[in-house]
Amino acid sequence: MERLTILGSAYAIPNLNQDNSHLLVETSKRVVLIDCGNHPVVKLAKAGISINAVTDLIITHFHADHVASLPLLLMDMWLEKRTAPLNLYGLDFTLEHIRRLMDVFDWQKWEGMFPIEFIRLSDSSETTLISDDQLKILSMPVKHLVPNVGLRMEFTARRYTAVYTSDTEPCDNIIRLAHGADVLLQETSGRAKGHTSATQAGELAAEAGVKRLIMIHYDSTLPEDRLLADAAKSFSGRIDLAKDWMVLLD
Ligand SMILES: [Zn+2]
Ligand SMILES: [Zn+2]
Repeated sequence: MERLTILGSAYAIPNLNQDNSHLLVETSKRVVLIDCGNHPVVKLAKAGISINAVTDLIITHFHADHVASLPLLLMDMWLEKRTAPLNLYGLDFTLEHIRRLMDVFDWQKWEGMFPIEFIRLSDSSETTLISDDQLKILSMPVKHLVPNVGLRMEFTARRYTAVYTSDTEPCDNIIRLAHGADVLLQETSGRAKGHTSATQAGELAAEAGVKRLIMIHYDSTLPEDRLLADAAKSFSGRIDLAKDWMVLLD
């Protein structure tokens, strides 16, 4: 069983139908959560997953819409009497800020707190976070307002590759990460420093040679047909706008 689910698809401001962008990757060996802006516990419960089944948590960068619910997630895991270690991946900058955030909650004093394995990602080159016979996840730094990584997820047995850019402006590492992928999950907050427009998303998808473009982390107040039309100016493959609960591999 391998599944990739978009749990949240919104940009920094969530709405009635969309939580902040976060993803769930499931295999028979692992449950990987990517980012943690909105509290993910309810959505995980709806997906039939106990929070303590989460083996790996990847935080792409330290912005509130990607990390703000981490203290509550860790506290809930602790309250549910988790004992297994949690692998927590991030760049140096991200992990240092996470430690400071957790210190505010005095987490060192939580009695019987489960172990957290902090795993540092390179801020200059590729890092292999996970590599087993079902799943390989690689990170590469991307270009945002704070240090950030994009992720390439290879579902080996299924011969399916998905790339999640997280927040970034167009950069060479997106092309490297997404080269030949089945799907590019491209942030599309709009043309601005550290972000990408729908037009640029289409250009990136075309340059990387992906089969499908899914725009995520977009401004939901904009007309959807305009975002799709802008991306289609350069990219002739399938284009969609991410929605919560979209399943890409099942
Ligand atoms: Zn964001
Ligand atoms: Zn951000």
